[in-house]
Amino acid sequence: MDMLIGGKYVTAEDTEEVKNPYDGQVIDTVPIAHLQTAQLAIDEANKAKSSLVEMSAFKISNKLLNVCEKLTQNREEFAKLLTLEVGKPINESLVELDRSIETLKLAAEEAKRIYGESVPLDAGLNGKGFFAFTQRLPLGVVAAITPFNYPLNLTIHKIAPAIACKNTVIVKPPTEAPLTVMKFCELLNEEFPDGVVNVITGYGSEIGDYLVCSPEIDKISFTGSVTTGLMISQKAGMKKVTLELGGNDPLVVLKDADIEKAVKGVINGAFLNAGQVCMGVKRIIVEEEIADEFAKKLVGETEKLVMGNPLDKTTTLGTLISEKAAMQVEQTVDMAVKEGAKILTGGKREGAFYEATVIDNVKPDMDLVVNETFGPVAPIIRVKSLDEAIEVANDTEYGLQAGVFTSDYSAAMRCANEIEAGTVFINKQSTFRTDNMPFGGFKNSGVGKEGIKYAVEEMTKTKLIGLNLR
Ligand code: NAD
Repeated sequence: MDMLIGGKYVTAEDTEEVKNPYDGQVIDTVPIAHLQTAQLAIDEANKAKSSLVEMSAFKISNKLLNVCEKLTQNREEFAKLLTLEVGKPINESLVELDRSIETLKLAAEEAKRIYGESVPLDAGLNGKGFFAFTQRLPLGVVAAITPFNYPLNLTIHKIAPAIACKNTVIVKPPTEAPLTVMKFCELLNEEFPDGVVNVITGYGSEIGDYLVCSPEIDKISFTGSVTTGLMISQKAGMKKVTLELGGNDPLVVLKDADIEKAVKGVINGAFLNAGQVCMGVKRIIVEEEIADEFAKKLVGETEKLVMGNPLDKTTTLGTLISEKAAMQVEQTVDMAVKEGAKILTGGKREGAFYEATVIDNVKPDMDLVVNETFGPVAPIIRVKSLDEAIEVANDTEYGLQAGVFTSDYSAAMRCANEIEAGTVFINKQSTFRTDNMPFGGFKNSGVGKEGIKYAVEEMTKTKLIGLNLR
């Protein structure tokens, strides 16, 4: 597949193979762009700015709906490509497609709601006799840099609000899984003027870095790891930056919890997309009194998962993004075992597959739970009290989302108030998001929020216009 720059499809001398992590087969190749091509994309995105600014909100909204319609018509085909490049079960890919369609619809609606407010200057000293109002204006060019795990929906969470508020976009899709995003951008290009959406492929450390450092880009909207996010925040200069980064989300199970419900929360939260989810359940903090019963039930449910060909509709656990990624998870789990943790089920790797693994007796200082483990692992940390549960939940550099299972409302409210995370769900695991909610973490999990309306706030600037009527 080729890059898309200024409405034209562009290739490069060097190309990179995109492989199916399930069987190693080459799905397609994509260009490895040079920096000159990145500059061309920047030039084209800047040239196209006026075409969007001059377009009415009504027209932009309708065009986004047209793209939505085309994506709906091609839902199955997109889902298949997503499964081939990411290795996630086809049913999960179909859910990602449904959410992508929803995200686009939300952006089409939001395109009609971008306006300012009147400001009572007479409430300030010497303000009498003035009339003032604000306008929300596009920033200009937004660079969208996205990760491999939910490539389509996470990229739409950047492109769609950016266009809704009249910014042009340069997309740098994930190196491991760029195809679904590239195919989606073709649909956008059919609707919008040349240069409104540009796609450039290549290495993040070169192309991504070039976009981050360019003074001709107005905003970096990044989703990915903390390591890359920190680098971006240091290099972006004065441009606006949104960083949606990694998570190490706790799932707290208190002694009065509905255990079946909590177990279901872990199955959905720790093993979805083979555990490669930013808001995945990565630390299960369980009160000692119920820990044995909880662990036994969790093992029973975990063993029901079906590992297999991701295109097969009965598969519930697919591969990781690569064999290398699976090996990393294997090493981290093996190290925890050496330090005294106990595998209750799973723990084996086969190529890019890693079994759904429940691991008990995990201590809060083990690497497995100090860093973000991006794989299908459910580590149980046993605690003696609510106080200790909150302390362990907060003992991390991350703060994306959290889940608490309890039937005690005062304990629930203590957790909600005291756990340092962008979202705390009561009786639901952290691995839950609707595409309209404000989404974004505290601490090293990020800066800024997404969820169309909130992304639009971060992709516009406010101008005040004051009239002296004295
Ligand atoms: P990554 O940081 O390795 O890569 C993300 C993107 O950044 C890719 O497109 C990559 O090519 C690009 N990139 C790499 N180096 C760059 C540089 N120096 N400058 C600019 N861009 C560069 O992340 P990943 O491995 O693809 O994704 C997994 C991570 O993403 C996990 O930590 C996960 O938790 C996080 N994530 C966060 C969210 C969220 O919304 N908070 C959602 C999904 C994933």
